[in-house]
Amino acid sequence: MRDRPHSGAPFADPTTIARPGDDERFMREALEEGRLAAHHGDVPIGAAIVRDATIVARAGNRREVDADPTAHAEVLAIREAARVLGRWRLSDCALYVTVEPCAMCAGAAVLARVALVVFGAPDEKAGVVRSVAELLDATWMNHHPRWRYYPPAREEVERLLSEFFTTQRRSSPSAD
Ligand SMILES: [Zn+2]
Repeated sequence: MRDRPHSGAPFADPTTIARPGDDERFMREALEEGRLAAHHGDVPIGAAIVRDATIVARAGNRREVDADPTAHAEVLAIREAARVLGRWRLSDCALYVTVEPCAMCAGAAVLARVALVVFGAPDEKAGVVRSVAELLDATWMNHHPRWRYYPPAREEVERLLSEFFTTQRRSSPSAD
């Protein structure tokens, strides 16, 4: 992965957005949501929406338990934050997610006008922030959330995922 300067629109109000010093705390909350997702057989990915250094919404992946292909942690957290705040525009919010967002979730962050996306581990197969595409920085997008990768979380995020898949393989050896 390359490292490059972060681009994107300036913050609507810098005082309301999570700062790098907040990353450890909020990534921990997202990780907790990921752990809970594994309890109902879902890939352990978690997300939290932060505003004013406070979590306004949190969610884990629910694709399996809800039989919903769009029930990714980020989408569920964005929907919940919009419900709590009573508005679709989340331009004063940060999205914390354990794994680099996919195309749908990055698209949802753009549609919600999220100010900042922070992820804990890259997804080399489907991550579109910096791994397989750079959607948040695409010039044709009408909004550019800022984003940052929080490497200190990577090991724990990846351990959670590999433990989940190891357990799954053991319980259903024929599954692909
Ligand atoms: Zn997604």
